[in-house]
Amino acid sequence: MLGPTPSTGLSATPCLTGPTAPAGTPRHPTALGGSTGGGAAVPQPYSNPASEVPSPAEMEPDRPIGYGAFGVVWSVTDPRDGRKVALKKMPNVFQNLVSCKRVFRELRMLCFFKHDNVLSALDILQPPQIDCFEEIYVITELMQSDLHKVIVSPQPLTTDHIKVFLYQILRGLKYLHSAGILHRDIKPGNLLVNSNCLLKICDFGLARVEEPDPSRHMTQEVVTQYYRAPEVLMGCRHYSSAIDVWSVGCIFAELLGRRILFQAQSPIQQLDLITDLLGTPPLSALAAACEGARAHILRGPHKPPSLSVLYMLSDGATHEAVHLLCRMLVFDPAKRISGSDALSHPYLDEGRLRYHTCMCQCCYSVPSGRVYTRDFEPVAERPFSHSYENSLLSVWQGKELIHRFITEHQQGKRVPLCINPQSAAFKTFIR
Ligand SMILES: [Zn+2]
Repeated sequence: MLGPTPSTGLSATPCLTGPTAPAGTPRHPTALGGSTGGGAAVPQPYSNPASEVPSPAEMEPDRPIGYGAFGVVWSVTDPRDGRKVALKKMPNVFQNLVSCKRVFRELRMLCFFKHDNVLSALDILQPPQIDCFEEIYVITELMQSDLHKVIVSPQPLTTDHIKVFLYQILRGLKYLHSAGILHRDIKPGNLLVNSNCLLKICDFGLARVEEPDPSRHMTQEVVTQYYRAPEVLMGCRHYSSAIDVWSVGCIFAELLGRRILFQAQSPIQQLDLITDLLGTPPLSALAAACEGARAHILRGPHKPPSLSVLYMLSDGATHEAVHLLCRMLVFDPAKRISGSDALSHPYLDEGRLRYHTCMCQCCYSVPSGRVYTRDFEPVAERPFSHSYENSLLSVWQGKELIHRFITEHQQGKRVPLCINPQSAAFKTFIR
């Protein structure tokens, strides 16, 4: 039996949770204090009774956090319950149809997700009248750090840490893939963690719906290079959820060795580093590669695999760990382990036990012991639908659709939040 959850020592702040407003609370907008000096939370003209609106003095000074491929993230205090949350601004939404579709997809995903290891929207700020509607602000849970910061920090990373992190990454990934969503940018900076080691996958700016038809081309705008799967590096026109599993394999090795596994300067060098480790791939694995990539591999010397170097990553690179790692770092995506199957690997048994013993929301304790959930790694209730995207033909139509989506999303929920555009702090935030 494992002991209590290890603290990452990331922060002295305890896990941030807080009560939510009771259902049926009257719908009045509340200004949100995204502030550098605490002066942002000026109540709106038709505001709540004084008892419901915290005075600006009660707002704590906040700070930019700054994660996200698209958009800026700040720490703010929710005036409705004093809870610290993250505020993400989605910028340039209505610049063109492509950005409009991308942001709407990300917004709908954030509202769709219901999983403890996937970051989701807690709320969306009330949009202004449609004529003034330019930006979208989403509230999510505030996490204290991310795996990149943890890996480069001097704090110890034990095998227990690695197991519980990897378990949660795969648990979240199984959920995403079951909804038909490819993340496409899994990297340590997109894996948020708090001081209790709870982990959430974030940043769906590049996520898209899996394309079941292999004849359909998919965009190459994918994944930070170090975590990019070989099929993407080789210019394959179609790829699957296996690209995310490759990224997780790279991160697993990085957690063990505390250095980036394949750190190359260019996509070609990236591919060379991969073949240095895995050996020259068989011809069958090159079938979908573009001509240039195939020629590059075949022109080079024949390389034998050198997977035994993985044992030298650290003391934590046990036979079990390296076995799982080698199932994720498979050149041919068709032969790579799936996220769901990886969860069945014995290496993750301890991570699962630890997570469900003292970290999860799905199990609970009674005086006689722990009552475990029936399904440790749940899938999505339904696939994520993106059928609306095909009917989106103009920026103005997208604007109307997003405006209606946010308004309907808020219906009957908590007191809506809005921004006071005159506040100095928000002017800083917007800049
Ligand atoms: Zn549980």
